[in-house]
Amino acid sequence: MIEVKNLNFTYGKGSKNSLTLKDINFTINKGEIFGFLGPSGAGKSTTQKIIIGILKNYLGSVKVMGKEVRNVKEDYYEKIGVSFELPNLYSKFTASENLSFFRGMYKGETEDINKLLAMVNLENYSNKKVSDFSKGMKMRLNFCRAFLNNPEIIFLDEPTSGLDPLNAKNIKDIILQKKEEGKTIFLTTHNMNVAEELCDRVAFIVDGRIKLIDSPRNLKIRKGSKNIKVEYKEDGVIKEEIFTMESIGCNNDFLKIIKEKKIERIFTMEATLEDIFIEVTGRSLS
Ligand code: ADP
Ligand code: MG
Repeated sequence: MIEVKNLNFTYGKGSKNSLTLKDINFTINKGEIFGFLGPSGAGKSTTQKIIIGILKNYLGSVKVMGKEVRNVKEDYYEKIGVSFELPNLYSKFTASENLSFFRGMYKGETEDINKLLAMVNLENYSNKKVSDFSKGMKMRLNFCRAFLNNPEIIFLDEPTSGLDPLNAKNIKDIILQKKEEGKTIFLTTHNMNVAEELCDRVAFIVDGRIKLIDSPRNLKIRKGSKNIKVEYKEDGVIKEEIFTMESIGCNNDFLKIIKEKKIERIFTMEATLEDIFIEVTGRSLS
């Protein structure tokens, strides 16, 4: 669905080291949720803006559904859905007036506005002016915009940012539901939980470069250190010891504890995606 080859981009004239994006390569398959994970300023939103055809003076090739986005026309926007990082809504309009206005831009079939508002728990606020909305409500309304034209490919920039846990969970569920329906989703985030829970594959991006692309599961198996923590009780006190998983069956210290102590808990200690991000890139996500 999306094929990015040797993508380089700069906002200014500048030299090679002022490039915002440096030799970006990836492909996204139909029905996949692909996550762009990286700290603020890494180039996530810039990449999204290039793929959706807003920034055109890039080097390399960016093809969506077989077409180079540098040359796309209006009809491209009939097929994709976008929600930007910062809500761009008309604050003097109500929620439903906003969606009606944006819906009017599409030639093809569009979704029912009340259905979209209900999807993000805003059904009781459809006649309220956006100027009276909280930041989270604006984010949820902005999220709806991406689905007005029932698009095949959906671009979501930091979709859960500024949302309370319940609404964030709802947004994540909607994204998974869209994947079930066969939609392709490009998601940018600096939130490792979002990446871990939703993405089939993630790209780690730092300073305009992709450091690695893999599934969260593979990353955890291949990268994160594999340790076992044993908690046991001795003289009424809980004690703990950590062992590496490798050759655990021949580890006499481990076996001795298992045989002789009163075991309370044994568990594997998994690295989080954030731990792995730091290990791979040397940078933190915040
Ligand atoms: P992210 O979404 O990963 O936080 P961005 O893609 O927004 O990162 O930004 C990447 C880099 O490009 C940052 O250094 C940012 O300051 C710069 N940048 C973003 N937008 C512009 C712009 N319109 N003009 C100049 N520089 C920009
Ligand atoms: Mg961004």
